[in-house]
Amino acid sequence: MRLARLAIIVSVVALSTVPAFSKAVTEADLRKHIAILASDAFEGRKPGTEGETKTVQYIAEVWAKAGLKPAASDGSWFDPVPLIQRGQGTSTHSFWSKGRKLRVTSQDIILIGQEAEYVRGKLPLVFTGSGVKADGMVGADVAGKAALVLFDAENVPDEMQSPRARREALIAAGAEAVIFIGESKGNWPTLRRLLLSRPIALESREKHAPMEGAISTEFAVGLVTAAGRDWDKLRANAKQADYTGEALGIDADLDVKTDIYRFNSSNVIGKIAGRKKNSGALLYMGHWDHLGICAPEGAPDRICNGAVDNASGIAVLNEVAEVLAKKKHDRDIYFVATTAEESGLLGAYAFAEKPVVPLDQIVLSLNIDTIAIAPRGSKVAIIGRGTTPLDAAVEAVAKKSGRAIESSADANAFIQRQDGWALTQKGVPALMVGGSFADLELMQKFLGSDYHGPNDELTDSTELGGAAEDAELHIALGRHFADARKFKSKKAGE
Ligand SMILES: [Zn+2]
Repeated sequence: MRLARLAIIVSVVALSTVPAFSKAVTEADLRKHIAILASDAFEGRKPGTEGETKTVQYIAEVWAKAGLKPAASDGSWFDPVPLIQRGQGTSTHSFWSKGRKLRVTSQDIILIGQEAEYVRGKLPLVFTGSGVKADGMVGADVAGKAALVLFDAENVPDEMQSPRARREALIAAGAEAVIFIGESKGNWPTLRRLLLSRPIALESREKHAPMEGAISTEFAVGLVTAAGRDWDKLRANAKQADYTGEALGIDADLDVKTDIYRFNSSNVIGKIAGRKKNSGALLYMGHWDHLGICAPEGAPDRICNGAVDNASGIAVLNEVAEVLAKKKHDRDIYFVATTAEESGLLGAYAFAEKPVVPLDQIVLSLNIDTIAIAPRGSKVAIIGRGTTPLDAAVEAVAKKSGRAIESSADANAFIQRQDGWALTQKGVPALMVGGSFADLELMQKFLGSDYHGPNDELTDSTELGGAAEDAELHIALGRHFADARKFKSKKAGE
């Protein structure tokens, strides 16, 4: 049907200014892909599930039909991304002070080992406050010991705010175990849910202590009080900027079993081979994964379908691939549908670690995520504005496509929350360009409602106008940046 309509359009406009290769991407084109990717049959596209198999197969089929060539490292469509999940197994623990076993009534303790079995006697406990001092350094003597760390940091530099950064600093200082303390009436439920949710991780990026876990303040208070210490005093001491921690005079005996699940997920990688050797490459990316079954048993709808996030981005990726594959371009054009973005840009980090094209050959990477937000006529924002010398060239293409420019850098608030960030950190010019992040009020409305919930579904009112327009923009950007005369890149030796 589309082909027939295309033939009519071409015959009518052949003499006008629209080039003969122009092909509109319509809302209906995008809807067709989203209806499949965000259907219940795809189970919310969680990595490692049957939903992944269906998703990556579908993308590979669409790309093959469009004329792309498989471009994963082994020549297939699927580049393996080794992932790991750790879950709490059974464990026994006891705490001792001056030869006396301590009685703690709270049950709020979660212990997870790096390996399936962790057995350790007489592990000394050190209270470290926030884990690091105001200068960001670890002050406490934690080598070979268990560091107790407040989950919410006080008096630490911005870059050490995240529990992850502080955990890694403590591991670098030799901590045998890192145990966070969550506020019983505050962040403990979050911390608990996080640890018990078997978070998906990229093993190559993880720095774990042999033992990690969490306790509630209720547990911490019970523990230190039983050992004759004053919790309020410890907490007050920890507020000092130069606090270097205190040995608690408590030893732990631990026998911790951990469920470990290792599996390969896939980045789908396809390519349109360029006609000009050594002229560099253009790269499009978008994440195919979403959250899977996300609501508890008994809930009316348990599947997080991820229609907007990010079936819409894959739909655009598919349509852009289909159009660009119809003609030869100077540069290679790569398409990468990444896995496990929702778990922390893991597929993108895996790609950045083992790229199928040398990173210094990539003249531009364009990420497409959460694109079905704004209506037609929206301005074009650039996530990554100011991080590359390419803003002006991107804007020129957008203007030529009839789009107005959002010239503020407000959209950069999202720069670390999208796959392109994994490439930005490696020095690759990586941008996200389009309308959905130009109207931040509309975006916030989505983030505050259907986002990451069972209601992110395709409905009659799903706004696809802006996404269709952004698809056209990405085609125009592709034609520009894959053309070695229109866009000369020093990177590619031109
Ligand atoms: Zn998401």
